[in-house]
Amino acid sequence: MKPSNLSFWMQSLDLSPYSESTDPALLLPTYQCDVAIIGGGFSGLWLAYYLKQAQPEAKIALFEAQHIGYGASGRNGGWLSTNIPSVINNLLKHPSITTAQIQLLQRQVINTIDVVDAVCQQEQIDCDLHKGGLLFIATNEAQIERLQHYHESELAYGFAADELQMLGAEVGKQHINIPSMVAALRYQHGARIHPAKLALGLRERLLAMGVSVFENTPVHAFSKNRLDLGKSTVQADKILCCTEGYSDALLHNRKIIPVNSSIIMTKPLPESFWQRFGWQGNELLGDVAHLYIYAQKTRDNRILFGGRGAPYQYNSVDAGVGQLDGVTTQQLYQRLGELFPDFVFEIDRAWKGSLGVTRDWNPSVSYHAAEGLGFVYGFGGNGVGPTNLAARTMVDKICGRYTELTALPWNDYHCPTWEPEPFRWLGIQTMYKMLAAADKLEYGLKLKKSAFFAGAAYKICGLD
Ligand SMILES: Cc1cc2nc3c(=O)[nH]c(=O)nc-3n(C[C@H](O)[C@H](O)[C@H](O)COP(=O)(O)OP(=O)(O)OC[C@H]3O[C@@H](n4cnc5c(N)ncnc54)[C@H](O)[C@@H]3O)c2cc1C
Repeated sequence: MKPSNLSFWMQSLDLSPYSESTDPALLLPTYQCDVAIIGGGFSGLWLAYYLKQAQPEAKIALFEAQHIGYGASGRNGGWLSTNIPSVINNLLKHPSITTAQIQLLQRQVINTIDVVDAVCQQEQIDCDLHKGGLLFIATNEAQIERLQHYHESELAYGFAADELQMLGAEVGKQHINIPSMVAALRYQHGARIHPAKLALGLRERLLAMGVSVFENTPVHAFSKNRLDLGKSTVQADKILCCTEGYSDALLHNRKIIPVNSSIIMTKPLPESFWQRFGWQGNELLGDVAHLYIYAQKTRDNRILFGGRGAPYQYNSVDAGVGQLDGVTTQQLYQRLGELFPDFVFEIDRAWKGSLGVTRDWNPSVSYHAAEGLGFVYGFGGNGVGPTNLAARTMVDKICGRYTELTALPWNDYHCPTWEPEPFRWLGIQTMYKMLAAADKLEYGLKLKKSAFFAGAAYKICGLD
């Protein structure tokens, strides 16, 4: 299988994605280890990292179908942000989940930015991490109302008052001089990263720690103590499944579907651009349109600009190697031009990737000690930091420790199942069409509040 180098991140690295990993040909017909981890994204990598630290004697092997960072972890927007990968209303529908647990989750996700930073420093992983905070902007009145709502909600569910701030247009533009900005919500915490540098840096660290990393080694099926690799089998005391948006092919339980997100990356921009538009603080940048965008300024002065577009393919087909269609590329390019007008951008690369979404958009971290089986999934578009936190949670569970992390709401969380096709496809298509229409209406009619049917769209897909 050829390595996918379609994401700018992977392609920008000189390293061959397969270098220094264990050759799958070395696998004996029956290979034995203490812990087998399936999936070489951030979930699997962090899990191997923390587990090897907790149990240095354990023989740990990681199996990745393609190459490390092939999935969302090597293709994302590089937002190491404070966004929790959860829908709070859905969590609170469970009588056993309390507001205090959600506040704890939020605090832990905030702290995870420093945790990742500290590991990168300690392990000398240079992943362009820069803590510039985060700026969510509004470009119409209905979006101001949403920003105010987010602000209140963040304060109720875990943020301290001095950690985020509503800004008027004038102050917001001092951060990033976007002419159409009418207000902003500024988060003190948040960091941009180069995700492939982090993924491959973790891989190098794991190899140095004595973890076996088998790339180009798809797991065909697994059950208690046994992985089926086709030509060989693996016997393992513990098996931990970290396949996120690709999970259904292994789990066949309709718990998680791949939803695509798409990205364009500009060429490096000249000094005159930055003088005009500012962005000297390297903040993460997002808007609060229903079909929102996310952006970062990279270390080498490009803009990464992402959003949805062809978000779901019938029957949960994943993003494959990540080739992006022309229509979505054009939509993103147009929106970039609207935010930064009168400048002709050159696009260096466009790609897409699959994130993993559960029916109620809440992740789950579960471990069944009797069977030695663990599962981590459902981070949606907010997994860069939370996968680190989930890995630490899982290691506490495996080690039988009762900690703050094992009290987080995602512990042994039971996600509802997705509808079978064609209902799933119809529901998601309808939601996206309604959200696009709501955005159009809010701009066109200059609405002061969110279009009424946007709420219905969120309900259809379990986002409210
Ligand atoms: C375009 C895009 C932009 C995003 N932007 C952000 C962002 O800016 N900030 C943020 O917080 N989150 C973002 N996300 C989400 C974030 O990237 C993910 O939540 C996170 O990377 C998930 O990591 P993971 O290890 O769980 O999954 P993945 O990185 O998807 O890893 C799963 C791995 O499992 C492997 N695999 C699958 N099946 C098998 C098998 N049978 N055998 C062996 N291996 C298998 C896959 O090849 C893959 O490498 C984005 C996602 C996408 C797609």
